[in-house]
Amino acid sequence: MGTKCPQCHFDNPSDSKFCKECGTQLIPKEEIPVTETIETPKEELTAGSTFAGQYQIIEELGKD
Ligand SMILES: [Zn+2]
Repeated sequence: MGTKCPQCHFDNPSDSKFCKECGTQLIPKEEIPVTETIETPKEELTAGSTFAGQYQIIEELGKD
């Protein structure tokens, strides 16, 4: 199993650090940092507003 170049999708040997085709730095799958950040909406959601154009806020929850 080789390392596919993210740039040109050239299949490089798994031990190569740079793409043999275009020279892009190859990062082994295990080393790819997971940057899955869940962003909270900055705007305050109020009753009646539409969230992501899909869900309508019926009422505000957890408001003291
Ligand atoms: Zn490449």
